[in-house]
Amino acid sequence: MDYRGRIAPTPTGYLHLGHARTFWIAQQRAQQAGGTLILRDEDLDRDRCRPEFAVAMLEDLNWFGLHWNEGPDCGGPHTPYRQSERLTLYLEVWRELAAGGWIYPSPQSRQDVQRALTAPHEEDAEPAFPVEFRPPPGTGRGATEPSAVNWRFRVPDSEEIVFHDGHCGEVRRICGVDFGDFLVWRKDGFPSYELAVVSDDHVMEITEVVRGEDLLTSTARQLLLYRALGWEPPAFFHCPLVRDAQGVRLAKRNHALALRTLREQGRSPEELRAEWTPLPESQAAATKFAKPKN
Ligand code: GLU
Repeated sequence: MDYRGRIAPTPTGYLHLGHARTFWIAQQRAQQAGGTLILRDEDLDRDRCRPEFAVAMLEDLNWFGLHWNEGPDCGGPHTPYRQSERLTLYLEVWRELAAGGWIYPSPQSRQDVQRALTAPHEEDAEPAFPVEFRPPPGTGRGATEPSAVNWRFRVPDSEEIVFHDGHCGEVRRICGVDFGDFLVWRKDGFPSYELAVVSDDHVMEITEVVRGEDLLTSTARQLLLYRALGWEPPAFFHCPLVRDAQGVRLAKRNHALALRTLREQGRSPEELRAEWTPLPESQAAATKFAKPKN
């Protein structure tokens, strides 16, 4: 199979050096494999995504030296490349999950989840959804419309999801401990990030997902979706996160290292790239996916 990689920015603000570094690695891996690179605009969050950020995102990435073979600006065999235009696909996938009895309607909001838990959790980690909020098995099976309610994927409690990551090596996450029943559909009519990204990566025939290390737990969730849908998962390569001088990982609200700002300051992409610690040679080439153990 030919290598197909993707970069998947979200236009909720200006992209920063951390995005550029991850995408640069994605581009290098696609080039080294003689493959194709796709740009997918992950603009599902209508409240936070803005068209001007979507335009800036493409400009900034081009300036930095990123070039893709398929995308919203250049088209390709999997048009559209904007998630907001792919809702029909997501609904079909939601129906497949409902038909298989993998998901259930969940009227509890995230605030309910927060209140139900008292243990402290690490930075940014979502508290596992409390199992007492789960409806009886079979609830929601065969539903044909999500209606105005949240839907969650029922995780196999205590199962350990083990996968090989091209950068991090063997990764293990325990269902019900490291993460719980996760959202696949939101009551406002939109799929969750997990459902959308798995549907797109599958349909766009992505063979390797390169993204930030902060999404390792999401990969465990996504592997459960691949399994439920009977789809072959891609390989994964999670890159180390870029941190600022204080050791805090970059966020879009941190404008100092926004690509725009750096460009306005007269910094060149070559100079910025020269400051990066290169990844070990052994990780330069694309890795084969090792199936998760059941
Ligand atoms: N769109 C996601 C983000 O900007 C990345 C998703 C992914 O690479 O799977 O955080």
